[in-house]
Amino acid sequence: MIDEEPPAEPPHEVDDVPTISCSVCDREWQLTYELDELRVGNRAVEQFALDHKRHTGHFPDEVMPWVVTCTECPDGEAYLEERPADRWAHAHARHARHAVIVEHESIDGERTIKPPESDD
Ligand SMILES: [Zn+2]
Ligand SMILES: [Zn+2]
Repeated sequence: MIDEEPPAEPPHEVDDVPTISCSVCDREWQLTYELDELRVGNRAVEQFALDHKRHTGHFPDEVMPWVVTCTECPDGEAYLEERPADRWAHAHARHARHAVIVEHESIDGERTIKPPESDD
């Protein structure tokens, strides 16, 4: 019987677990669950933010979401990256033929994605 399995990493090894706070909830969380259970690594903040939005309707602090809002229907979404936000805006403009507003702090206000004139 060889018992050379090394002991697992001590559970308290990680002491740089990122924390995230929300001034709306007036709470602070450690992202231990995201790191240990979901194993999302450096996307832990993103995962937490999206979960927070899904369950509370708002994003936590220090998260700058890309918000896409249709100007003509109540449709809209929020993403943490430009690419999916842009994709949503263009897809909605193309299929629903609605103008969509994309907002993010980095683009100094907003930009509007207009439905294409023709699409054939
Ligand atoms: Zn909150
Ligand atoms: Zn629409």
